[in-house]
Amino acid sequence: AKEMGRNTYQYYEPDLTASAFDRLRLENDLRAAVRRGELLVHYQPQIQLSTGRLAGVEALVRWQHPEQGLLAPGCFISVAEEMGIIDEIGVWVLRAACVQMMDWDASGLSVPRVAVNLSAQQLGRDSLVGQVSDILEETGLAPARLELELTESMIMQRADRAIDALRGLRALGIAIAVDDFGTGYSSLGYIRQLPLNRLKIDASFVQDLDAAEDGGMIARAIIGLGKSLGLEVIAEGVEREAQNAFLRREGCDIGQGYLYGRPMPAADLCASWGSSPAG
Ligand code: C2E
Ligand code: CA
Ligand code: CA
Ligand code: CA
Repeated sequence: AKEMGRNTYQYYEPDLTASAFDRLRLENDLRAAVRRGELLVHYQPQIQLSTGRLAGVEALVRWQHPEQGLLAPGCFISVAEEMGIIDEIGVWVLRAACVQMMDWDASGLSVPRVAVNLSAQQLGRDSLVGQVSDILEETGLAPARLELELTESMIMQRADRAIDALRGLRALGIAIAVDDFGTGYSSLGYIRQLPLNRLKIDASFVQDLDAAEDGGMIARAIIGLGKSLGLEVIAEGVEREAQNAFLRREGCDIGQGYLYGRPMPAADLCASWGSSPAG
């Protein structure tokens, strides 16, 4: 069903509950998709709110399905997880994003940083740190320009393992951001012990900002928490000017959302940010 309203996708979303047959076909298609090179990455700008400059981009995977057109990750990421091929997709996205950064460098567009989403399965693998390190070496991207995004629930699922993995990743010199922050159930004591760089305020709290009188309470609390922990705070899902104004006023560091730019092909990012001095 094509969902309208709050999550307006310009893609077709197949009904995953449809039938066992459809599901099987989706699995086969997805397995072939990686091989056939049907996956692609879109990039969404992240804006330094105090300056309006480009702080970085988030890499978001898409699937150019031969019959169904461009599919959003909501259609296939959970299936890929269940199939156990999310690792393969994750590594592919990571490499593609690092290569893209080097391409932007070569073409004179300065994109300070790229953020790539990790899945729970990837975080659970012993091979993760080595894989990331190999890709950085292969592509030549400076580790400080890579950020990995993980959710609270991914970290809390296997906290002991996660901490080791995060330490290993930080030792490489890359940054770690907690995605969808505020929607999980991690204890604040725990957050303090993790080697993190950024908190991403979940879009649901940004949505509330201009609604009720106390709509900004959670966002304000997360910004305060970030400051006291020495972490940068990113707000995602910023769609309206009033939300942008609130976040700036409260001292949120970075904004991401349709207001600043939708996820877009790499070439379009050049077109929108290529002429202005980014930095
Ligand atoms: P996420 O990491 O929370 O990514 C943000 C999602 O919000 C993206 O959806 C983005 O297009 C959308 N978005 C950005 N700005 C706005 C806005 O202003 N308003 C609204 N309503 N939405 C906005 P997308 O691209 O469909 O990705 C959905 C989820 O799929 C991501 O959520 C992430 O959890 C997952 N995902 C995407 N790429 C990857 C990947 O390479 N690996 C893994 N494991 N997961 C991925
Ligand atoms: Ca994310
Ligand atoms: Ca998010
Ligand atoms: Ca989300």
